[in-house]
Amino acid sequence: MQDWVSAYGRSLTLKAIRDALAAARSQAGEGAAIPGFDELLARAHQMLESRTAPSLAPVINASGVILHTNLGRAPLSQASIAAMQQVAAGYSNLEFDLASGKRGSRLVHAEALLQQLTGAEAALVVNNNAAAVLLALSALARRKSVVIARSQLVEIGGGFRVPDVMKQSGAKLLEVGTTNRVHLSDYEQAIAGGAALVMRAHRSNFKIIGFTEEPALAEIVKVSHHAGLPVVDDLGSGALLDTARYGMAHEPTVQESLAAGVDLVCFSGDKLLGGPQAGILIGKAGLVAQCKKHPLARAIRADKLCLAALSATLLHYLKEEAEREVPLWQMIAMTVEQARARAQKWRDVLGIGGLVAGESTVGGGSLPGETLPTVLLALEMAHPTRFLARLRAASPPIIARLEENRILCDPRTVLPEQDALFLARLSEAGSG
Ligand SMILES: *Cc1c(COP(=O)(O)O)cnc(C)c1O
Repeated sequence: MQDWVSAYGRSLTLKAIRDALAAARSQAGEGAAIPGFDELLARAHQMLESRTAPSLAPVINASGVILHTNLGRAPLSQASIAAMQQVAAGYSNLEFDLASGKRGSRLVHAEALLQQLTGAEAALVVNNNAAAVLLALSALARRKSVVIARSQLVEIGGGFRVPDVMKQSGAKLLEVGTTNRVHLSDYEQAIAGGAALVMRAHRSNFKIIGFTEEPALAEIVKVSHHAGLPVVDDLGSGALLDTARYGMAHEPTVQESLAAGVDLVCFSGDKLLGGPQAGILIGKAGLVAQCKKHPLARAIRADKLCLAALSATLLHYLKEEAEREVPLWQMIAMTVEQARARAQKWRDVLGIGGLVAGESTVGGGSLPGETLPTVLLALEMAHPTRFLARLRAASPPIIARLEENRILCDPRTVLPEQDALFLARLSEAGSG
């Protein structure tokens, strides 16, 4: 047990031994056999291992949902990981201006990149997009009326409801239109009634089809500006590249919002940007400055690891290498032939299963109903739910899909460097 003391520390080791002994005593009291010395040691060691295993740990995503919110959304690029590692390992110029030798601002690091990429006057990075929206409304519309279309009072998931966030900011909701239709005249009337701000929220995770109407963003901007009101656009995903290039619907881009004249655009760092969790605000310098100096900005600020990873991700876009370097875009860009070749290779190595045509989704509350054609490895199992549970218990856990009693694994979301580990764990689970 000396080795355990150096590996786990004295108190954890003693606790595990005492707990193993106590459990054996109480089981013996109920008539169970008394375990031998080696068996007791094995039980104590098992406790030590499970008590010190990290709770948050990597999994292999074979579900085919690219931005799986429950699995941590976007995997980072190699350059982003390296940037985080360097900043994490030591000191950095986080808030230190190297030219003057004086105190600097953490906000400068990603701001210049965002300005260059989008042409926006100013930018601010906070902890996540929910925080960005809360900050924007708190700073610009507290105790004032905010006009928003009824069809945009959406719930994104994880408890983020646009109307609740608006209320939390102290803004007064001025809903216009009906569930399915809103006209420019609805906006004009609400603005004339004395509003301070006009908001647009992207309906990220659902579609309204049929008898619908919504004015173009540029038109909303025009009537708002005519009355001297700024427009805030909660874009959600915040794509910088056009998803239509990959055979999906077009997800509104950050550049389009700015081109429509929006004053402040909010979006996530870890959705279609493919970076770390972050909330990004870009737009008019005056409005961004108001957000920067609001007390909430300090409470929801981004940390140095986020800023390092985000800057490295943004640089991929600036260098026009995002499709090559950002895992999210590599996955989206994967062709059905490439998926088939991967799935075929898996099948050949495993010697079990078949290939079936299927669909991957982007997830992360973007592009609802849109899919990418893929080829899946399908495993027929006598007890599929039990097999899925065995896959989740593997190290690392494998998250697969269950459809029509078959286990389905999608090559699109399994990182290429995980292939060997994935196949080893899959075949162990299959033979276990
Ligand atoms: C996802 C989303 C949010 C929340 O963003 P987080 O980065 O997850 O906090 C807010 N608004 C919209 C429209 C979204 O799609």
